[in-house]
Amino acid sequence: MSQIEPARKSVPPKPRSTTVLSGRTKKFGTAATRTAIPDPNGALYAARRKIQPQAVRGTFRTVKWAILAVTLGIYYLVPFLRWYRGPGEPSQAVLLDLDRGRFHFFAIELWPQDVTYVMGLLILAAFTLFLMNAVAGRVWCGYLCPQTVWTDLFLAVERLIEGDRRERLRLDAAPWSMEKVRLRTMKHAVWLLIAWWTGGAWVLYFADAPTLVGQLATLRAPTAAYVAILTLTATTYLLAGHMREQVCTYMCPWPRIQGSLTDEHSLNILYRVDRGEPRTSAKKTAVLRAAGQPAGGCVDCFACVTACPAGIDIREGLQMDCIQCGLCVDACDTVMGKLGRPAGLIGYDTEANVRCRAEGRPTSLRIVRPRTVVYGLLVAGVGGLMLQSLATRSLTGMSVLHDRNPLFVTLSDGTIRNGYTVRLINKRPVERHLSLSVEGLPDARVEVVGGTPDRLPVPSDATQEFRVLVFAPGGARLGPSLPVAFRITDPASGEGAVATDHFKAP
Ligand code: SF4
Ligand code: SF4
Repeated sequence: MSQIEPARKSVPPKPRSTTVLSGRTKKFGTAATRTAIPDPNGALYAARRKIQPQAVRGTFRTVKWAILAVTLGIYYLVPFLRWYRGPGEPSQAVLLDLDRGRFHFFAIELWPQDVTYVMGLLILAAFTLFLMNAVAGRVWCGYLCPQTVWTDLFLAVERLIEGDRRERLRLDAAPWSMEKVRLRTMKHAVWLLIAWWTGGAWVLYFADAPTLVGQLATLRAPTAAYVAILTLTATTYLLAGHMREQVCTYMCPWPRIQGSLTDEHSLNILYRVDRGEPRTSAKKTAVLRAAGQPAGGCVDCFACVTACPAGIDIREGLQMDCIQCGLCVDACDTVMGKLGRPAGLIGYDTEANVRCRAEGRPTSLRIVRPRTVVYGLLVAGVGGLMLQSLATRSLTGMSVLHDRNPLFVTLSDGTIRNGYTVRLINKRPVERHLSLSVEGLPDARVEVVGGTPDRLPVPSDATQEFRVLVFAPGGARLGPSLPVAFRITDPASGEGAVATDHFKAP
């Protein structure tokens, strides 16, 4: 990603740290004053500084609350949605049935053979992420990533119990007292409750939710469920409660990858250097301007820094730690509003436009450009292929396995017999009777042990194995191995499937 060069027309720029999108950074100073600069010693570890972000109000905060409510609502409630699939079939709309090897997603049912759809979905998600990044930076990180959503929720609880930034900083610095113990106990108890509920909701996706809730309440659930809940409780509590921005900065690979997916025309939350610099206090601005001196819009109030959950100063340029959550925009817009100045000192902008404005050139928004077109085509292509494949996929299947020993049997009348194990697959929620035939072997006769080839019953949403014997008349010139095709057909729907194997002969 290109870097922002702070451009000031009249006043020489103060030396500042540059945009840091790769390489290690080290933080110096207090939460209010620190900057991110390359660590000259190349240290691999920097101790965490506790960040106590200030609450803000504004458009981005409202959007984030709405996204938090919707995403958490989906996560916690979806296991309880019902979807009728027929008698004896699971009625949970979204269910990962590991015992039966089925993934139910409303009307879609995937079998282990359909693993390609899962891979396709992952590829589609990756390309969508690339596209989002190329158009508008780390939209995923700032608004949708589970780490961001749960951290926001934990922060809201912290604020509710311990107060806003100033009260929390005071509490951090205060010696231990009954009041501090009470507040801390309450906070951690609620965090643990949310973390436990998060783990509890997760296991509900793997079994019938109402039944599993009953089992969990009466301590009769499978051990795996308790282990999963405990693991997720611990990870949620640690990641959202304690590690927070460190997950984004150090554990997640995405900040390092995203630099190669954006360019100077990508929208990002940026400080508009051309408007903000030179920073001047509100009182001095009018005096300076009246005297013909330059005075920027930024009053150096640090509201944007204290609001930042990553603890960074957006005025230093685009930084790897920035998750593009937009809270600094709300903070700055509030300050500008109070001062009666136009909002938008920080906002979605492109590096190219920042530079253009500084140089007095016209700005433009280039959403459509080669990389967004390529990512868009990839998303459309993979999505279209998956949809087409899902819409036309067969709900009937079969596999054939030739007997290993003996490969063939010559009967007393010269007839050659081969044995096969044939597994028929019925993905429909009704029992079906399929008809089996063999092609490629002249005058072949097919027998099914315990059944008739014209009417092989396969239960609903299940597989059924049959032992199949194929006979070739004596005297036929076959060669040692003749390719044959097994075909099954559903006479009711015309649907069918084919599997190939060989007919062995002397
Ligand atoms: S700098 Fe602004 S957009 Fe970036 S993480 Fe901090 S508050 Fe969010
Ligand atoms: S909130 Fe706005 S005015 Fe205050 S320091 Fe940040 S950019 Fe400057």
